[in-house]
Amino acid sequence: MLERSNELAAWDRDHFFHPSTHMGMHARGESPTRVIGGGEGVYITDISGKRSLDAFAGLYCVNVGYGRQKIAEAIAEQAKNLAYYHAYVAHGTEASIRLAKMIIERAPEGMSRVYFGLSGSDANETNIKLIWYYNNILGRSEKKKIISRWRGYHGSGVMTGSLTGLHLFHNAFDLPRAPILHTEAPYYFRRPDRSMSEEQFSEYCADKLEEMILAEGPDTVAAFIGEPILGTGGIVPPPKGYWQKIQAVLQKYDILLIADEVVTGFGRLGRMFGSDHYGIKPDLITIAKGLTSAYAPLSGTIVSDKVWQVLVKGSDELGAIGHGWTYSAHPICAAAGVANLELIDELGIVENAGSTGAYFRAELQKALGDHRHVGEVRGDGLMAAVEFVEDRDDRKFFDPACKIGPQVAAALLERGVIGRAMPQGDILGFAPPLCLTREEADIVVTAAADAIQSVLGR
Ligand code: PMP
Repeated sequence: MLERSNELAAWDRDHFFHPSTHMGMHARGESPTRVIGGGEGVYITDISGKRSLDAFAGLYCVNVGYGRQKIAEAIAEQAKNLAYYHAYVAHGTEASIRLAKMIIERAPEGMSRVYFGLSGSDANETNIKLIWYYNNILGRSEKKKIISRWRGYHGSGVMTGSLTGLHLFHNAFDLPRAPILHTEAPYYFRRPDRSMSEEQFSEYCADKLEEMILAEGPDTVAAFIGEPILGTGGIVPPPKGYWQKIQAVLQKYDILLIADEVVTGFGRLGRMFGSDHYGIKPDLITIAKGLTSAYAPLSGTIVSDKVWQVLVKGSDELGAIGHGWTYSAHPICAAAGVANLELIDELGIVENAGSTGAYFRAELQKALGDHRHVGEVRGDGLMAAVEFVEDRDDRKFFDPACKIGPQVAAALLERGVIGRAMPQGDILGFAPPLCLTREEADIVVTAAADAIQSVLGR
C-alpha cells in the first residue's frame, strides 16, 4: 500500500496541475499529496488507511455525506440507460425535467425556471449574461454594471473571478475587470467603528452601496450579487437588518438581486434556501454544490418569474438564446440531483442542519469563546468560523507570515479532523456534512480546542 501511495504521489507531482495549490511547493514535494480512497458518512479515508472526519464536507458540498448508495445507484442506472443527450432546442431527459420541477417546488416564492450548468462559476456567468440580455430587451443598454462585495466568492472565471472579492483570486490575473465593482463587506467583527450596533453597521453598508450607485449613475447599474452569508470570505453571517436595508436600496434604483446560494442552497442554514432564512427576495439564484451533494457536477441559475417574463417576450424578437453548454442538464448529474433531493427529504437533513448546527456552534463557543487569541466564534446553521487575533481588545491581526490559520488547520488534521483555513485572514472554517450527529460535532469541537491550544497556547 505504501508503495502504491508513493508511486501515485510521484506521478501526481510530475503530471497533475492542482487548483488552489502552491505550485513550487507541490513540485518540490514540500506540500505532499494526500490520495483519498474512500468515504463513508462524515469520514474520508486516504489510501494509506488514515481516516479523517471531514468537517468541511469536501468544499462545503457533500451535504448528505459520503457513500450514499441511493445516489450511486441512480447514477449507475442513468449511465446504463442513457449516459448523455444534450438539452439544446428543447431536448430533455426524464431526470433533467424531474429535477427542474423539484428545484422550483423547493425554491423561494416567485421562482419560475432553472437553467442548468456544471459549476457555481458557470452558473454565475449565466447570471451575468442573462442580466445583460434582460436589460437589452428592456432597451436599457447602459444598465450593465454588477456590484459585488469585498470578501464575496462567486467563482474563478474571468467575470466570476472579478465578482469574487478576495485578493488571492485577483492578484496577477489582471482582475477584477469592468464592469464589476465591489462594495463594503457586511463583516461586523471588522466594522470601522466599534461603537456601531449591528443595525447601524447594516445601515452603513446600505449607505455605502447607495453612494456607489449614485456615483456610478443608477442607469448604469444592473445588479447586485451576494451570498446570503459570506462563505469563502470568512463565514460571516449578515448583521441584523442587513438584507432588508440592502434590498430597499436595490428596489429604489431598479437593480436586480442575485442570491448566490451555491453554499447555502439545499439546507446548510437549516432552511432549504438561505434566501428564505434571511428574508431575501432574489431575482436570480445561483445553485451548485448541495444540488447533487457533489456526487456529480451540476449547477443552476434559478430565474424568477419577473425576469423570465421579460426574457420570453424578448425571444420573439431575438430568436433562440445564444447561450448554452454541451453538458447543460447532463442526465447522469441530473439523476444524481433527483436522488440527492429525495434523500435530503427522507433523512430530514435540513432540519438536522438547523438543530445540530445550533448545538455545534454553541459547543464551539463554550470551548473557544474565551481563548485569548479567539476574536470571534460565529456562523449560522452548519457553517461556523473561529477567527484568531493577536489581541482580543483591539482585534489586531496576526502577522500573515505567521500563517496561524493554516497552522491550526494542520494541527486539527493531525487530530483526525478536517477544517479549512479560509483564504483571507486567520480564520478556521467548518461546514460539515448536514447529516452530522451531536457525537460527531463533539469530536470536532474537542479536536479544535486541542489543536488551537497546541498552536496558540491556553
Ligand atoms: N459561489 C459560491 C458562493 C461558492 O462558494 C463557490 C465555490 N466555492 C462558487 C460560487 C463557485 O463554484 P465552483 O467552484 O463550482 O465554480
